[in-house]
Amino acid sequence: MENQQKQIKLLKHQVANLSEFIIRLTKVYDGGFPEIDTKLHTLRNHLKSSANWLYAENTISELTGPVLKHADALRAFNHDTISQLEIFANHLLNSDATDVEFKQLVNDYISEINGNSLNIEFISARLRQGIDLFNDLVDKQSDETDTSVLTDDEITRQLHDKICLEFKELINQLLSTTPDDQTLRDIAIQLNSGLSRQELMQCCLVILRTLTDELLQERKQAERYVVGLQKSLTGVGQKVESSIKASQEQYQIKLDHSRQLRAQIDDFGIEVHNALDLAILKQQANEMLDKMASTLTKREACDKDEQVSLMELLSGLKSQLTTLERETESYKQRLLEQKYHSYRDSLTQVPNRNAYNERVELEYRRWKRHQHPLCLAVVDIDHFKNINDNFGHSAGDKTLQVIAKNISKCLRTTDFFARWGGEEFVVLLPQTPLDQIRKPLETIRKQIQKIPFKFRERAVTITASIGATDFVSGDSIVTAFERADKALYEAKNSGRNRCIIIEG
Ligand code: GH3
Ligand code: MG
Ligand code: MG
Repeated sequence: MENQQKQIKLLKHQVANLSEFIIRLTKVYDGGFPEIDTKLHTLRNHLKSSANWLYAENTISELTGPVLKHADALRAFNHDTISQLEIFANHLLNSDATDVEFKQLVNDYISEINGNSLNIEFISARLRQGIDLFNDLVDKQSDETDTSVLTDDEITRQLHDKICLEFKELINQLLSTTPDDQTLRDIAIQLNSGLSRQELMQCCLVILRTLTDELLQERKQAERYVVGLQKSLTGVGQKVESSIKASQEQYQIKLDHSRQLRAQIDDFGIEVHNALDLAILKQQANEMLDKMASTLTKREACDKDEQVSLMELLSGLKSQLTTLERETESYKQRLLEQKYHSYRDSLTQVPNRNAYNERVELEYRRWKRHQHPLCLAVVDIDHFKNINDNFGHSAGDKTLQVIAKNISKCLRTTDFFARWGGEEFVVLLPQTPLDQIRKPLETIRKQIQKIPFKFRERAVTITASIGATDFVSGDSIVTAFERADKALYEAKNSGRNRCIIIEG
């Protein structure tokens, strides 16, 4: 009996504990679904202090249906949330302000989302992580794009960077003609490692001085060439003049000789006429023949002298002409080299903007005259700034060289390709109708995407956006370029790594 009482007491204690536990457990699910909330509330009331298990059991059986229903709904909801998070993460990847590091974070996030677990804790953690990534991106975007809130200092900084970049191109160009110039090499190194404002001003001075020196030297060279040319021409003139004078004198002498001969013949005629004695006549005839022979000998000598001086004059002129030709050739070569350098981008070794300006004028004139189709495309590397920021300016430079080489590989012989400046390139496609340019442009885009770049042991994919258009009636070179640029802008805004073509 005593034992039975003990057992009832233990049982009551266990039931009280169980009621307490159920009450706590129901509180955990409180706030989940209103329909279940009210029933849980009723269940708690039945179990409080002196628990009424009969009522409680009834409420529990009423709860079974809604709980099962909501459990299914919750599973579907969790599944849907995960899919939405995945779509959201892919949007983050394609956003404007994503850099390589951010991309890596988002990719890690996507792999985590694809884990097998679908419980509430896992999902709420992924939601929290997603919100953090989104906040990061918003911070980046406001850092990167909102130029309207740039401070004066930031604007100056951007200008400073731009000048440094232009200087670098200028220095490279100068170095391509004078690769051993130590001062220029030092500036190039300084420019790569960044310059203060004061240092930049000093560099300005040095570059200006170098350019002025080059200009003066060029002028001296040209002067030297012109003076040489003038000397040669004067020499030729003097020689020809003295030759003419000598010729005139020789002519005078020859005239005298002819006159002498005539006079001698006349004299002889008179003497023959008056001659009475044959022996005397014979003697006179001999004397006369001697005189004539001597006059003829003199005349021959005179002819020979003239011939010799003429030959001398000709060979003198010939050697002077050869020297002149040699000098002209070397000057021409120098001008050609200068022209080559002024039309070639020193970093990528492809034609530069000067070359483009000249070529587009030519193609534009041809297009106007023959009305063959002419298309124009602008290629801009996506998020190129990130390459510089993450891997350094030299890596950026190397990247541009590799990309330029790869674009060149894709071109047809009729196409023209140049570096427009910075990380932008321009392609002219003459004799190609607009509906046929997508293929070559897509080849360029895919070729860039395929290049296996590796920076600091990390594989990096670089893409480019392309905007293109055709020349149409009423277009100027500028309006067509603006339209291609607009297409490029659309390509950037619609996700990059694509080619947008706008019909003129
Ligand atoms: P988007 O996709 O919008 O074109 O982004 P982006 O970063 O490519 O464009 P943005 O115009 O913001 O930056 C271009 C960067 O290209 C800035 C500049 O530092 C870099 N750049 C331009 N020319 C050179 C160069 O000759 N060498 C290197 N290393 N970087 C260059
Ligand atoms: Mg650009
Ligand atoms: Mg770019």
